[in-house]
Order: sequence, then C-alpha cells, then structure tokens
Amino acid sequence: MSRGDESGLHFIIIGGSIAGLASAIALRASGHNVLVLEQERQLGGSDSVPSGVARVPPNGSKILFDWGLGPEVIENTIVSEGFMVYKYTGGHGPGLDCVGLNRWDPEFLTEARGDFRIFRHRDLLHILYDAAIRPPTPNDASKLSPKVTVLFGAEVVHIDMDLCSVSLRSGDIHIGDAVIGADGAGGIVRQSLMREQLEDPTATVDKYDLPTGLSVCSANISKVDGLTVPEFAKFYQSPHSNLGTVCVGSNRGALTSILGKSTELALSVYTPDCSDRGGWTRVADKKMSDVIGPCDIPFQNLAAYAGPSVCIQIKDHHELESWVSESGRVVVLGDAAHPFPPAAMNCYAIALEDEHRRDRCFRIRNADKHYITTLTLPDGEVQESRDALMRANQAAGRNVMDAPESSLQDIIDEMRMVFGYEPTDDADEWWMSWGRLRDASEA
Ligand SMILES: Cc1cc2nc3c(=O)[nH]c(=O)nc-3n(C[C@H](O)[C@H](O)[C@H](O)COP(=O)(O)OP(=O)(O)OC[C@H]3O[C@@H](n4cnc5c(N)ncnc54)[C@H](O)[C@@H]3O)c2cc1C
Repeated sequence: MSRGDESGLHFIIIGGSIAGLASAIALRASGHNVLVLEQERQLGGSDSVPSGVARVPPNGSKILFDWGLGPEVIENTIVSEGFMVYKYTGGHGPGLDCVGLNRWDPEFLTEARGDFRIFRHRDLLHILYDAAIRPPTPNDASKLSPKVTVLFGAEVVHIDMDLCSVSLRSGDIHIGDAVIGADGAGGIVRQSLMREQLEDPTATVDKYDLPTGLSVCSANISKVDGLTVPEFAKFYQSPHSNLGTVCVGSNRGALTSILGKSTELALSVYTPDCSDRGGWTRVADKKMSDVIGPCDIPFQNLAAYAGPSVCIQIKDHHELESWVSESGRVVVLGDAAHPFPPAAMNCYAIALEDEHRRDRCFRIRNADKHYITTLTLPDGEVQESRDALMRANQAAGRNVMDAPESSLQDIIDEMRMVFGYEPTDDADEWWMSWGRLRDASEA
C-alpha cells in the first residue's frame, strides 16, 4: 500500500496516454504528486502495433508550446497547411477525381495563436512522458518538489470510489487523495461511474455504447512504397508535403497524411466492412485491402502496400451524467469522460486541454461526428449538392469548404471557435471549484 507524502495532494491517474500524461504535467506544475498507472508494459503499447497519426489543431498545439515543449514539438511534427479533397470512387479513369483544396486561413491561425500540427501518436506520447517525469530544475526546487511516477504493466482492476483506493491485477493497492480516470472510452473508471449513476451494478461499456455501423481502420505505408503510387507520391514533396487528403465516398471515406517527421504515410479508412472488435493496441485480423471496398485505383494500390492495421468500431457512447463520482474524489478526463470518434479532428486537442466544460466538449464532439457524416454521405441528392458546392468553390478559386449559409460553412465556423479557445484560465477555475466541492463533501 502506498500513499503520498505531505507536499501537495497525492493524485492517482489511471491511464498513461494523452489525457493522463497531460494531466500529470499540469498537476505537478500546481505542486501535486502524481502516480500514473498504465496497463501496457511500455509507452504506447507494443511496437508490433503500428503507431497512427495524432492531429493536433491550434487549441492543442498552443498548450504544448505554453508548457515549454516547443523545441520537441517542432522536431517531431509537420505543420498541416490544409487538405486536398478527392472522391473515394470518382469513376474517372485510372487516376483520382480531385474535388478541390482547403487551406487553413493564416489569419485564422494567427488569431488562434497556434499551428495545426501532425505527430506520430507515439512521438507525442514520448514528448508528454519526458515532460511529466523530468526532474525539477533548480528554479522548481522549492520546499514542494512534486513528482510524477509512471508505473507500466499496472492494470487497475478495482476502484473504491469512497476510499479513493485502486487495486491492481498484481494485488498491489494504492490510495490517493483523488483518482483521475484517463483510461479511455472502454476504461474501468467510466464504467464504475456508469454503474453508480445508472444504479446498475451489471452495467458495462459494451451494454451502453452502441455501434454506429462504421469502423475506422488505420495503417501506414512506407515512403518507398508510397512513392510508387504517383497520385500520393506528390505528398512527399513541396508544395504538397504539408497537405493531407480527405477522400469522400458513399458510407466510406479516407484520410491520409504524412506521419509527422517520420517518412511513412498514414491511411485511415472509414468503412462499414469491419466487424473486427479491435482497438488501438491490437493488430486487426483484417488487412487494409480487405476493408477498403470499392474505390479508385490509386487507393487500391495504396491499400495493397499498407502494413498491419488497427480497426476500431465507431460508437454512439453513453453520456455520463457527471464526470465526478458521488464521493467527489474520482473524476474522468479525456476519452473516459467524453469519448470522441476514433481518428477525429479534435480528440487529441480536447484530451490535452482537457475540456471540462461539458457544453463546449459535446459541441466539438458533435462537430467531429458531423464531419464524419459529411465525409461518408451515401449516394444521393445530399451528396451531390455537397460535391457541387465544393467543385464550384474550387472553380472560383476559393477553399472547398467556403460556403456561407451551408452546412460546410458550419464546420468551418465551428473550427474557428474551437481553435481559438484559450483553455488555461478555465481549467484553473475548474480544478479550484472541484477542490471546493470535494472539501465541502468531506466537511
Ligand atoms: C496505443 C494507442 C494508440 C492510439 N493511436 C491513435 C491514432 O493513431 N489516431 C487516433 O486518432 N487516436 C489514437 N488513439 C486514441 C487517442 O489517443 C484518444 O482518442 C485521445 O487522444 C484521448 O486520449 P485518452 O488519453 O483520453 O485515451 P487513450 O488514448 O485511449 O488512453 C487510455 C489509456 O489508459 C490505459 N488503460 C486503460 N484501462 C486501464 C486500466 N484498467 N489500468 C491501467 N491503464 C489502463 C490504456 O492502456 C491507455 O494507455 C490511440 C490510443 C492508444 C491507447
């Protein structure tokens, strides 16, 4: 059994991924000791599982810069300048049917005080981990020298929400002043809150989170192979190297981008064809070429070169009534609080922030869902008018998403609002009020 020392509070964080490590950095900076318990044996899981892409819009990247991590971020990322839009199945010969281009407006980014950065998922984790465990500098070494300890291979199997204790599969027990569940959408903390709130001791995430019928499969293509597909080879060279692609299909869609500073190309495909109930930490049984479905030849060629894939079902997640336990001592953050669709635009930034204002969080998540729906519109009139709008913009020399008073413009307006958010002040206020609530509950 272990308990923190007398300096600051002792937080236990379950989950050593984006939200868990980001919270550890923020809590240590506020003078608290943190123990992070991560079930995987190493950061980001096994090396045999491909590392995907972390898209971090300005509201997330500015946090990393504000934490003094600018040099590491610059070293490990590319700056996204926008994306080309293609039809998934254009049916116009052997090439790709290009709908147009969307560039991030530089003024919009200056206003937002950040860049749109593309990381390899594992590189972002390493940056956060190194920052979390970094020994204090002489300037930090006041009488409080808070510490972050990360234990790997530490799977939590039980939480006592009143005593604030967690039990590991190994039999070890840890007790803290507060427990933070940053263990993802399928994690034990979200499930424990679900049981408490629904008064259903048999509640499981599988019972309450319902499949939407779509999955995301992600895999990487080496530079050597990617260069042999001419339509995608150009994304390795200027002026295209800072552009991703968004491919719009009928109940299908795809995203590509160069994987940070690595030379691989990341391909994520939205598909109805994957029954594989996998996850980010397990290689899928199906290959990319099994799930890519009807598509233009360059996509087929790309899929044929793809390495091992991961497949994740997209679900409509049960909404927790509150992110804090009745005892006031257990709280969920990141995907454990507000699961985002996999490979969504905002999941990383919101996990970094971590967004505690439920209204804003749900609005952003709905915008991400809307984005996926727009991308995968089935054949029919709505899809035709979306394409006509984008093609007309392209012909007029505008961004494809420019469309006042249309639903495409709604997506852009939402992005502007999201990217410009300054989370720090709000977050401080939230932690303080949570502390006050907890004090009141203990009185
Ligand atoms: C290995 C991995 C790779 C990913 N790759 C991508 C990607 O390429 N693209 C993308 O869009 N999203 C990816 N994601 C999801 C993405 O990280 C999240 O959607 C988002 O960043 C929110 O992060 P989070 O920290 O809240 O949750 P997650 O990133 O899901 O992290 C949850 C963490 O909790 C740990 N955990 C779960 N249960 C327990 C337990 N009982 N005890 C201890 N630890 C536990 C998990 O091992 C994991 O490290 C990945 C997630 C993981 C875990």
